[in-house]
Order: sequence, then structure tokens, then C-alpha cells
Amino acid sequence: MYKMCKRFSITFLAIFLAVILAGFLFLDNVGMNYTMSEAQLTDLPKATIARKEKYEETPKTCLLLTDSSMENNDVLSVHLREVLEDMRVGYVIVDIALEEIPDFSLYKTIVLVFQNLDLLGEKSIELCQWVQQGGGCMLFCTPEPTAVYRYLAPYMGVKEGGISYSEIQGMNLKEGLMIGGTDFNFHWGDPMAVAMNVQLNDNASVYAESDDDSKIPLLWSAECGEGTWVVNNHGFAEKATRGLTCAAYSMLEETCIYPVINASAFFLDDFPSPVPMGDGTYIRRDYNRDISSFYSNVWWPDMLTLCEEYGIRYTGMLIEDYSDETDGVFPRQTDTERFEHFGYMLLDNGGEIGMHGYNHQPLCFTGFDFKDEVDYNTWPSEETAESAMREAFDYLDTLYPENTAAVYVPPSNILSEEGRTFLKEHFPQIKVIASLYLEGEIEYSQEFEIAEDGVIEFPRVISGAILDQYMRWDALNTLNLYYVNSHFMHPDDVLDEDRGAADGWEVLFGNLCDYVDWLYTSAPNIRNLTGSDAGRATARYDILSIERTDTRDEIRLRLDGFWDEAWLMARCNGQSIVGVTGGTLEHIGDDYYLLHATQDQVRIELEGE
Ligand SMILES: [Zn+2]
Repeated sequence: MYKMCKRFSITFLAIFLAVILAGFLFLDNVGMNYTMSEAQLTDLPKATIARKEKYEETPKTCLLLTDSSMENNDVLSVHLREVLEDMRVGYVIVDIALEEIPDFSLYKTIVLVFQNLDLLGEKSIELCQWVQQGGGCMLFCTPEPTAVYRYLAPYMGVKEGGISYSEIQGMNLKEGLMIGGTDFNFHWGDPMAVAMNVQLNDNASVYAESDDDSKIPLLWSAECGEGTWVVNNHGFAEKATRGLTCAAYSMLEETCIYPVINASAFFLDDFPSPVPMGDGTYIRRDYNRDISSFYSNVWWPDMLTLCEEYGIRYTGMLIEDYSDETDGVFPRQTDTERFEHFGYMLLDNGGEIGMHGYNHQPLCFTGFDFKDEVDYNTWPSEETAESAMREAFDYLDTLYPENTAAVYVPPSNILSEEGRTFLKEHFPQIKVIASLYLEGEIEYSQEFEIAEDGVIEFPRVISGAILDQYMRWDALNTLNLYYVNSHFMHPDDVLDEDRGAADGWEVLFGNLCDYVDWLYTSAPNIRNLTGSDAGRATARYDILSIERTDTRDEIRLRLDGFWDEAWLMARCNGQSIVGVTGGTLEHIGDDYYLLHATQDQVRIELEGE
């Protein structure tokens, strides 16, 4: 009896274990094995999004002198206005071709956005005195060798030169100018910039020089009495160089403070999506696998290592089907296994899944001109576009019920004006649109902001895994102005020769690792956010304006539009921060500090040098 009992219990145990195991296998198959991470930020209440109006009231501490008779005046002055607005610096713009130059004593900083300094006339003497008494003056463009230039040159740190110019083909950044910019080389090759040949005095600090043997100073600052001159001896004034302008401007004040977004976001476009069948030339060459096996066993495990190592949180952008249908019916995707496999792992690793489209046809309606850039169909009506999008949302929500799809990435970053309005009207669940930062031929380009209709624009700045010097230059500039990294790539980059396929995945992934390593070394305290959290962070940044009061040993900030937190960059040139109330301060590198404001009033205690 006892024996039987024992045998029975062993059998029972075996059956019990088998049932448990089967249960696990079943659950695994059903696939409910992912845990969504909590959002890090909440949506802002509508009432707080009164946006930017407060900025208009910011005290005008900066004088921008422009010359409308100069050929490229519009480009230069628009560029500066954009940077100053992003930095929440209040400014007055005066066109010296038409208006009188105002009294300098009303301002803390002055930016000269013209080349012919003779236009200053006798005011140049006053300007010099104003700097000596503690003002900060920046020359934004390479000056002409005029009489006033020769008068001002010694004060601006110039020892000799200034009569000839050289074509510049590249630039080296030096230590202390930009976050992550030390020894950064940008070699554009074609001689598209011109710089004045100068030699500088010892009181000048060079922050950028030409990358040829002549080492022409391209950006320097010079102490002058109590004040500072900053001279830009180059012609950069593009959207991609705003960070450089911000870095140059921020040297004019002893402590420069500007709001930042503080977000690092990595988007995976077309992921999850139907995995291509068959072979890719270079995947077969390097891995002897088909594409499907490569994605599961090489590409995705590699990508996941970056989550473990750096805490990256991917935002995957779903495509349900690759048909080019824009009319008729939009059937449900039947092959869901890959969607579950990749999607669950992405979510389980702190990620989020947003909407890229039912298929890859951009939201552009009949009559939209793709300008031979791409081969897509337009949608004949809002009804067809809506039924396709509804199907895709329903599919996405069914697959990942815990995930809220709040981010939209336009296919190929193309989105017509009508498509933009259509989205807002029919799919209010979309809170963030993530397209491109830099302008393209037909792409939808954006600023980091809340749009007029309340949708948040969080553009992507760089892409892919070639990550050449242009991409890195864009990334460096965005990091400095917004404290943002915004990158996207596709799983099928490894199939496309234009995106580096022939190099092979090992090289491409090496580039990506190298970039990521640079990013988190340069910006060790940047936040890893999903697309929707990055959007929420952008909203907090966009509605913020700063009222600042300086005394000898402290700076007081009143943050208008503050909701629950704000991030600010503090660049300390002549002072050290010894204490903060209303927030915390963390050193980034060189003179840069990241200020996390947790109250709308912040007090910064200083110690002069
Ligand atoms: Zn795509």
C-alpha cells in the first residue's frame, strides 16, 4: 500500500509538473509575456498650453543689429532670431540701414549681424566702451577689412591680419566650446566658406579653427576689460548649425541659462512590420542566413544590447502590410507571429509602439506632387485613408493592448498639409508627430514644439547606421541647443545599398555603437525616453519662458509655464555655482551644467572668479 502510494505520488508529481510546463508553454505561445514600462511623464493639461505668449514679455536684454542692404541679411537674421527664441533670450532687432542705433546701455548682449562694421560709425567707440564695462558683443559674420574693423580688431583679440581671406574646407572644434564637441572634425571638402586670415593675441581663446595647416581661427572669444567679444569668422547660419550659434552666444554672459528638452529617443521605423521573405545579398554573404533568421538572431539581439548597456527605450513604428493599396479594402494581417515576437520584446525592454501606417503610402491625397522623389500612390479620399488607418490602429491595439499608440511617424517622412489636418481630426489618440528636423525636398519638417492645433512635434534629427560626419554634426548641434538625441533607423537598412548594406551589418552596428557611446559619454545624464515621453518633454520645454534677476552673488529664475519640472542648461563662463534651491544641478562637462528645476522659482548661488 505504502509502495503504491509512493508510486502514485511520483506519477502525480510528474503529471503535475507536465501540466505546469504545458501551462508555461501555452502562455509563452499566447505571448502575454511582456510588461509595459510606465510613462515617465504625464500629458500637460490643455489649460497650461497657453504657449509661448509669455516669451513675448521676456525682458529684451539682447540687441540684434542687422543690415537689410546686405545680400544674405534675411538668412542670417532669421537664423539668429530662431536661436535666441529657442534660448528664450528676449531681443530687440534694429535694422541699421533704416533705423538709428539705440543706446547700448539698455542691453546685456549685442549681436552684430553684418560685415561692414563702418556702418557703426562713431557708435563703434561707444560699443567698445560698453564691452569694456562688462557687455558681451558677438560678431556673427566674417567682417570686411574696413576702418572701423581695424579700430575694433585689437579689442576683439586680433593681433594682425584681416586684409586677406582664405577658403575653408573644414573645421576642428576645440575643448570647451560644445558638449561632446572636443576635437570634433567637420570636413566638408568643397571650399564653401570664407574666413579672414588673422593672428590672435594671448587674451583670445580659440574654440574652432580651420582643419588645414593654416589653422585659421574660426571662432574665438576675447576678454576686454570687464566684458567679452565673441567673433565668428565663418558663414554658418543653417538650421543644422543652431547649436554652434547657441554655443558662441552663450559665451557672452558670465552665466548663460537656457531651457532644454533633455531627451534621447531612438525610433525603429517599419518595426514591427511584415518581415521580407528570402535572401538579402549582403546578409547571405556575411551571415549565410535568410532575412527572417538574420532579423531574429542577429539584428534584433544586437539592437537589444543597447537597451541593456545604455537604457535606450525604442519607439517601434508599426506597418501592418506592404501593399500599395490606397483604395478598396484593407484586410487584417494574418501573419502575426513576427509582430508578437518583436513587439513584445520591444515593449518588455522599456519601449513603445506607435503608428507608421496600415501600409507605407504617405497620407497625401489626390493631386499631391511627390516630385519624382518617391513612387507612392495618393489616397483618393479621406474615407479610404481613414478605413486603412482604423484597421491599423485596431490591429495594433489588439496585438498590444497595454500599449497606447500616441506617436505617428509619416511613411518616408512625407505628410501633406491635408494629411496633417486629417490626422488631427480623425485620430485624436495621436499626440506626437515625429518626422524630420532638417528640411528635405518633400518631407514634412518640424521644430521641437507644440503645433497650433495642440499636436506635439518631435522631429528626428539623424538616421541610419552610416552616421557620417554630417549626421554627427547635426547630432552635436541638436545636443547643444536642445539637449536632445533623436535618431531613427529601419531594420531593412541592411538590405539597402544607399543605407550602407554593402558595408555589412557588423560595420553598420559598429558605427551605431560608436555614435551611442559618444552620445552617452558626452551627455551622461540625458534621459532615455520613448517617443510619447519625448513629446511630453518637448511640450514642457515649449511653454517655458524665463524671468531672470541677477545680483552680485545670485541668479533668481521665475519659470513661466512651469508645470511639474523643467530642464535648463547653465553655462558658467566666469562664475561658479555653489548652491541651488528649487532644483538640482549636475555637471555635464567643461562649463556646462544641467539644472533640473522642480519648482517654478529657482535660486542659483554664485561665486565669482
Ligand atoms: Zn517607414
